[in-house]
Amino acid sequence: MKSRKITEITIEIHEEWIIRRAQHQAQGRCADCNDQLTMITIDEAAALAQVSARAVYRWVESSQIHFVETEDGQLLVCINSLPS
Ligand SMILES: [Zn+2]
Repeated sequence: MKSRKITEITIEIHEEWIIRRAQHQAQGRCADCNDQLTMITIDEAAALAQVSARAVYRWVESSQIHFVETEDGQLLVCINSLPS
């Protein structure tokens, strides 16, 4: 009797930036977009845009992206204003 070997290959694809999101994510109102949007941290923005955190700070300093400063001094950027 002939048997067949069946190999199942499962490929899992995951997007790393989603995993660590919950921590500092905040719903906030972006004054520039005038809309209720998700504001994310510099690190998250860097991961999402696939650039360094330094590059995101440059965008903030040159007002290329929208940002808010929280009461504890943390910068959050507007997810809608990130370059795609
Ligand atoms: Zn915005």
